[in-house]
Amino acid sequence: MDFTQTYIDGRWQEASGAACTEVVDSYTETPFATLRISSVADVDCAVGAARRAWPAWAGLPAPRRASMLHAVADALEARSDALADAIMREVGMPARLVRRIQVAAPINAWRRYAELCEQAAHESRIGHSLVRRVPAGVVACITPWNYPLHQVTAKVAAALAAGCTVVLKPSEIAPLSAFLLAEAVAAAGLPPGAFNLLHGGADIGQALVRHAEIDMVSFTGSTRAGREIAAAGGAGLKRLSLELGGKSAAIALPGTDLAAAVKATLASCFLNSGQTCSAYTRLLVPAAEYANAAELARQYIDAYVMGDPAAPATRLGPLASAQQRRRVLALLQQAQAGGAQIIAGGPRACPVPAHGYFVAPTVLGNVAPVAPIAQEEIFGPVLVLLPYDEPAQAVAIANGTPYGLAAAVWGASAVQAYHAARGLRAGQVEINGAPFNPDAPFGGFRQSGMGRENGPFGLEEFTETISYQLPADFPVAPPPSS
Ligand code: NAD
Repeated sequence: MDFTQTYIDGRWQEASGAACTEVVDSYTETPFATLRISSVADVDCAVGAARRAWPAWAGLPAPRRASMLHAVADALEARSDALADAIMREVGMPARLVRRIQVAAPINAWRRYAELCEQAAHESRIGHSLVRRVPAGVVACITPWNYPLHQVTAKVAAALAAGCTVVLKPSEIAPLSAFLLAEAVAAAGLPPGAFNLLHGGADIGQALVRHAEIDMVSFTGSTRAGREIAAAGGAGLKRLSLELGGKSAAIALPGTDLAAAVKATLASCFLNSGQTCSAYTRLLVPAAEYANAAELARQYIDAYVMGDPAAPATRLGPLASAQQRRRVLALLQQAQAGGAQIIAGGPRACPVPAHGYFVAPTVLGNVAPVAPIAQEEIFGPVLVLLPYDEPAQAVAIANGTPYGLAAAVWGASAVQAYHAARGLRAGQVEINGAPFNPDAPFGGFRQSGMGRENGPFGLEEFTETISYQLPADFPVAPPPSS
């Protein structure tokens, strides 16, 4: 399959970059699509189209914008099979999970943002001031490869709902769902320029961030790239939203159901083969329970059957790329050289399939909380088990990395867990295994980024406020918004 075109100003047009890149199937290790990279001239065209489209899109009555976002959701739904297949091959997530997590959930999010359109332009009073929320303008969205449609949706659907126009540059490693999204946008009849698609890597990302006509940059990806984007965006004083890496901890408090805590933490850590920014990659247990927790991990790890992501029995697919596998294996080796011990799984106990970028599910022990393997994001199926003496120490260890994206606390009761959780500096904290809430704000402290995505908070990121100081004779009820 050759993808030589980009979607700019409501039309498919040939990308004008000289280079092509191959999209590789993470299980067969063979290219299955070729992508032509956009040029800097394409960046200019796309940003220009978004700028021209912005006043009309921002001025569209919210119900009209909402109906178009619903139409995008319908068109995505019609492409569910193609989306699931593309993402499974790019990322390696097993088919049984891909459809629910990587396809159905983002489509639901498009529908949710359609509902939230009405809230974007809301007005309120503070004393004698009328405060209006207005769209932030033209937004550059730059996304990673691990949950490609989800991450694109959290930006593009929210920005469009808020009345912004968008230029999207998805990851060059997993770009195909963005093509299908562009098809869906075209089918839904969005006005030309409201949504534009570019392809490329860091160069095209940088050209976009530096473009004078970009008002806001919404980025998800590594802390490394986030820093470069913040520097370039800061130079242009762009509004920034950064969703970056994490090293999230799960704390099992004394007296908790340890089996449930271990099982759920493995599930979080190994989901998408560990390629989840909010994965709980450190499990903190009372020192007296350490041996029990290790034994439970040994029992549960057998369930993580590696194999063809398309096979129904597969629970753990390959990593997305050879580069990612090299990185994870190097970090594992470094940890073992530093004294870390494999207490469950690991390459010896779990031989990997003959092809595919697999790393065996692994639980490490004998690791100091300050060791690199307990501090750095691994982005592979590697859990570190850490003992603690007192709950306050567990909270300090959990907070003791440069990140602050997510955390989980397990207690004998939800109230006990919540009290301990209040000491955590992370953007999203799960209590006693409560399910993910796609409408609740998601984002990080410190090197996990700035800003929040999802639901009403996610929508608000794409707005600015204007306050009008009003004289006493101004009517109490504000005039209807245009
Ligand atoms: P990455 O940072 O390498 O790339 C992300 C995107 O940024 C890609 O589109 C890439 O082409 C582009 N890019 C890279 N360098 C750039 C630069 N200097 N300027 C402009 N654009 C640039 O990340 P990745 O490897 O694709 O994704 C994995 C990372 O994403 C992990 O660190 C993970 O934690 C993070 N992530 C965070 C969240 C979150 O919500 N906090 C969610 C998912 C993934």
